Order: sequence, then structure tokens, then C-alpha cells
Amino acid sequence: MISVDEARAKILKDIKPVSTEVIALAEANGRVLAEDAVARRTQPPADMSAMDGFAVKAADIAMVPAQLRIVGTAAAGGSHDTVLQTGEAVRIFTGAPLPDGADTIVIQEDTEFTNDAVTVLETAKVGRYVRPAGLDFRGGDIGLTADRVLSPRDIGLLAAMNIPWVTVRRRPRIALLSTGDELVRPGEPVARNQIISSNSLLVAAMIREAGGDPIDLGIAEDNAASLREKAAGASSADMLITLGGASVGDHDLVQSVLAEEGLAVDFWRIAMRPGKPLMFGDFAGIPMLGMPGNPVSSMICSFLFLLPAIDALCGLTPRQPPRQKAILDQDITANDQREDYMRARIIGTKEGLPRVSLFPKQDSSMLSSLSRADCLVVRAPFAAALSAGSEIEIILLRHPYPNV
Ligand code: AMP
Ligand code: MG
Repeated sequence: MISVDEARAKILKDIKPVSTEVIALAEANGRVLAEDAVARRTQPPADMSAMDGFAVKAADIAMVPAQLRIVGTAAAGGSHDTVLQTGEAVRIFTGAPLPDGADTIVIQEDTEFTNDAVTVLETAKVGRYVRPAGLDFRGGDIGLTADRVLSPRDIGLLAAMNIPWVTVRRRPRIALLSTGDELVRPGEPVARNQIISSNSLLVAAMIREAGGDPIDLGIAEDNAASLREKAAGASSADMLITLGGASVGDHDLVQSVLAEEGLAVDFWRIAMRPGKPLMFGDFAGIPMLGMPGNPVSSMICSFLFLLPAIDALCGLTPRQPPRQKAILDQDITANDQREDYMRARIIGTKEGLPRVSLFPKQDSSMLSSLSRADCLVVRAPFAAALSAGSEIEIILLRHPYPNV
């Protein structure tokens, strides 16, 4: 059995980024920018007023009160186009360009004015409340570099840079194949011995959240013909995930049947709980992850291996779910040779660290505790027994890379 870190390294080693597409900026939040974004405009395009008030010459108001003649108005979207002379002022509003000849803004609050004349009550230095041209960026500047997940803030910047279309990685297509004679989809007629297939929906939701495009290949029966037929649907995908049928039981056919269809297994089984029967290989030219069928195993394997793989497919440096320290709320026994991922809740804080309580049952079929868990407690292989109050490591179970 290989370690979790070795498994991740093997999975990520040969993944190539998918191709790119051009999309409307309005659709680009959360997508991965594939080319540097170059500003198509200088912002602000000219020296602009940052306040409502009067554009004047600073020299004219060196002594106050100073009375100036109002010779025009400039509002946002408009301008005053004659050169300001000594003794003159232009009524100006936020976002309007500074008239030629003016060099500062006096805010309205520091004046008394009629239609024709303004009395300035406070002096102002040159450039006060003036946003110089190019303050934010200049045409030709690289505003954002490639290989970055676009956030709402980035969308704002790209819009200001006058970029209506962006080149992004297309969403990697991840084919999901569930296996098992016992499975039916939620809402379908279900017999007593059957169970509802929850995995594929869970993993599909994770894929979508990570920027991928899940393709549901359906549920294969536990026979060679059905598996073969359903797996053929992966031909247009960038990666194949199988769910279930990866263990050693008589009905676990994924490995043997897909081998006939071009699966070259790289590794099978890792030193991890849950998730031991994880398989990885190349399936007719695309990476394939064979995940165990229990929902908690599939979820944790997706979290640890699939999300970084989607990053790599998107041309990003694969991100790891970050680990942090926490305080254990109960005693735990020593660990065996497998890295352990245990569902837990955060029940408070202690000395600035989260206090976590493990669910008493850690069976990998149990979705209720998975749904209620706030984090996974991670224990290294052969970790010693710990008593309540000890420091341990956790991984938070929210989406690991919030895009805000
Ligand atoms: P397997 O890996 O096929 O041996 O499956 C392990 C356990 O997970 C069995 O109890 C299966 O019934 C269950 N299981 C397999 N696939 C799914 C699925 N898509 N949704 C929920 N449970 C599943
Ligand atoms: Mg099965």
C-alpha cells in the first residue's frame, strides 16, 4: 500500500491542462484565466475630480477667503473645455475631468457660492481630490496574470480594463460511473434490498464546485457487459471516476473488466481510512480514479485527490485542503498503519484553537455524520493514543478554496 502523499503525487504527475475557450466576462466568475489580461484602457482616462466642489488654481486660494468667478460646470460624463484662467473656478462633480488650467479641487463644504461666484474658505494643495490619469492602471498594463481563478473582484477589474471577453480553461469534463446491482437513483422505485445511489450526486456537486463539469454515465450493473457499455461513455471526458466495485469481492469487477478496455493500473489500495481500495490508472488515454463505493470514502477521496486533479486539469498549481491545529475533546486510541480521516464537529474554542468532538461512529457508509461534520481529524499512520485536551490536526470541510 502506498501513502496518501505518494498517491496524490502519482495522480497529479501526468495531468495536462485542458484546452481553452473564450467566454463573456459576465460568465467568468470562478473560471480559470488562461491568458494574461492586458488593460485596453487607462483608468482614470484623464485627471478626474474625486469630490463635488470647484476646480481652481491652488495659487488663487493661497489666501482665504478668496472670491473666484464661476465660468462653467463639469459633471461626470461631461467636461469644461476652455482653459481656466486666474481668478476663475469651474463647478465640478465627482468623476468629471479636471479642466485644463485647474490644478486642485476645493470641496463644496469649504465654500459659499451663488450662480456666478464662489468664496473659497479653505486653502488646498495642488492635486487635492484629483485622481490623476492612470492612477488605477494604464492601457497595456497586465492587470491579471494567467492561471488564476477569477473572483468577483477580478471581474470588476477586467470590466474596468474594458475586456468584455476572456480566455479561460474550459471546465474539465469528469465522467462519473456508479457501479452496483443494488443501486437506484433517488426518487426511482426502490426494492427492499436496494439502496439509493448517493455518491454520484455528492461527487458531482463537488466537481461542479471545484470548476469541473460532471458527466453522469449512470449506474453499471455488476457484470462485465454493463460496465463495458457504460464506461465507453467516458471517451469524451478528461477524467473518469468510477464509484464502487473497487475492492476484492466477487462483484468488484471494475479493475478486471476495464483492463480489457485499456485500463493500465498505476496503483491500487492506499494506506488510508476510509478509502483503502482507491485505484488510479490510465483509461484509454485519460486519468481514471476508481473510488470505493461507500459514500464517506468517495467524498474524502474526492476531497483529497479529485479536487487537486481538477486544479491540474485547469492549469492551476494543485491546491491542498489546508490543515490546521485543533484541540481534541475526547481520548482516542493509537492508530494503525493507515492515515485516518475522522468526521468531527467543532464545539467551541480553547486558547484560540477550535475544540473538536469526534462522532462516536465512524462507519464509512454514514452520510448523516458526514453532512453534520465541520471537519476531518487527520491522524498519521501509527499515531500514538491521545487524551482529551491534546492538540491534533484537522481539515475544515467547507469548500477549501472559497472564491470571493
Ligand atoms: P463497493 O465498493 O461496490 O463494494 O461498495 C461498498 C459499499 O458502498 C456497498 O455497501 C455499496 O452498496 C455502497 N455503494 C456503492 N456505490 C454506492 C453509491 N453510488 N451510493 C451509495 N452507496 C454506494
Ligand atoms: Mg459494489
